[in-house]
Amino acid sequence: MSENREVKARKTILNIHPYTPGKPIWELQSELGLSRIIKLASNENPLGPSPKALEAIQGSLSDIHRYPDASTAKLREVLASKLDMKPEQFIVTNGGDELITLVSEAFLEPGDEIIVLSPSFSEYEFGAHLMGANIISVPFGEQYTFDMDAIIEAVTERTKILCICSPNNPTGTYLPKPVLHHLLDVLPKHILVLFDAAYSQFATAADYTNGLEFVRAGYPMVVLQTFSKIYGLAGLRVGFGAASEDIIRHILKVKEPFNVNALAQAAAVAALHDEEHIRSSLQANTQGREQLYRAFQELRLPFIESMSNFVLVELGPNAKAIYGQLLNRGIIVRYGATWDLPCHVRISVGTESENAALIQALTEIING
Ligand SMILES: *Cc1c(COP(=O)(O)O)cnc(C)c1O
Repeated sequence: MSENREVKARKTILNIHPYTPGKPIWELQSELGLSRIIKLASNENPLGPSPKALEAIQGSLSDIHRYPDASTAKLREVLASKLDMKPEQFIVTNGGDELITLVSEAFLEPGDEIIVLSPSFSEYEFGAHLMGANIISVPFGEQYTFDMDAIIEAVTERTKILCICSPNNPTGTYLPKPVLHHLLDVLPKHILVLFDAAYSQFATAADYTNGLEFVRAGYPMVVLQTFSKIYGLAGLRVGFGAASEDIIRHILKVKEPFNVNALAQAAAVAALHDEEHIRSSLQANTQGREQLYRAFQELRLPFIESMSNFVLVELGPNAKAIYGQLLNRGIIVRYGATWDLPCHVRISVGTESENAALIQALTEIING
């Protein structure tokens, strides 16, 4: 048998690079033998899951020999009533990540173009590579604001999807409502806007929009939401998309029947009703952001003001070394090289005491 008779994978998957997750707590723990690890790398809820979600999971445990509801009817009903839309305008997915893949599968032909901003969330490119679509990357403007002219200029006949992440991961910057409105009005209607609002609940600016009002108004847009961030359910894998009934119908065609497990469905319903947990999580985040800002100012570290639960900080040419020194002290942040930002780190907002530990470590490392 000759060498070249191996099983050939599809050409397009050669373009796919593995996702780099934040370093898991157990991994650093086993490397260093430390008892306290502080993870500020994956934008998880530092207060933990909604207690009501935990109760709901316990209440559902004895039923896990049954298949979950393939139509996620209960959760879509709650979403519809909370968000003033129809249940048919939602698709529930195995994390927001799955929605991105499903949208790609439903809409991208090989050779289609998808516009992504840079730096942003990498999963949009994953979906595009999977389908053999071409990625058109548009850089952010000054201070990582959205550069409308550059985005509109990138549009061609072949553009199929435009991905907007607001607040954007990893910059924390957002697209103001009037600017999004203008963009939607000038975009050709053959383009689907994938509006990633994974961090919408943390945004406090008056002119922020989570995009849902534009879905209600009938624009060709899918809004992505997740239960992984403010709701504190990242380990369960549940998120959803909101769009017109037509767009949802297309996406449903490529969905596996039982993509969202029963515990995740029950927990998500409960978490949506847990106003207290949502309120305290938002408050902790807003205060934690301020705590980090003050420290960065004192340390004279440039940072981008964030509408999210993380802050992008510039540490300079020693960023990688500082990232490593933080790891040695049991503090995990995200190194910026993933986004071609080798002088930056992205730091998730933690509890007050986690933030304080990070600030102390950073101060000691920098003032050496
Ligand atoms: C976390 C995140 C998501 C969704 O994550 P899931 O855990 O898959 O729900 C989507 N977009 C962005 C930008 C994110 O940071």
